[in-house]
Amino acid sequence: MAMLINEECINCGSCEPDCPNTAITQGSSIYVIDADKCTECVGAHDTPKCVELCPVDGCIVADPAHQESREEMQSRYERLHA
Ligand code: SF4
Ligand code: SF4
Repeated sequence: MAMLINEECINCGSCEPDCPNTAITQGSSIYVIDADKCTECVGAHDTPKCVELCPVDGCIVADPAHQESREEMQSRYERLHA
């Protein structure tokens, strides 16, 4: 499952530099996560780094449209960092 930034985002930019997969970019109105790159930090950290860094509770949530197993996310992490 990828993570999703919702409309609670205040555009602080805190999450962007520390994403291990460079999955976060500034969108036209709020920051956005590329679901093809986000692994929920599987492969790099124990928990999603962006959620840890975001000052707004509930702003970054699991994206129900992108449900995957841990193994799929680990494979993607390894592909992205090959
Ligand atoms: S969960 Fe990890 S990989 Fe996904 S966007 Fe957040 S920091 Fe990046
Ligand atoms: S840390 Fe949270 S509020 Fe700040 S840009 Fe990222 S998603 Fe938006």
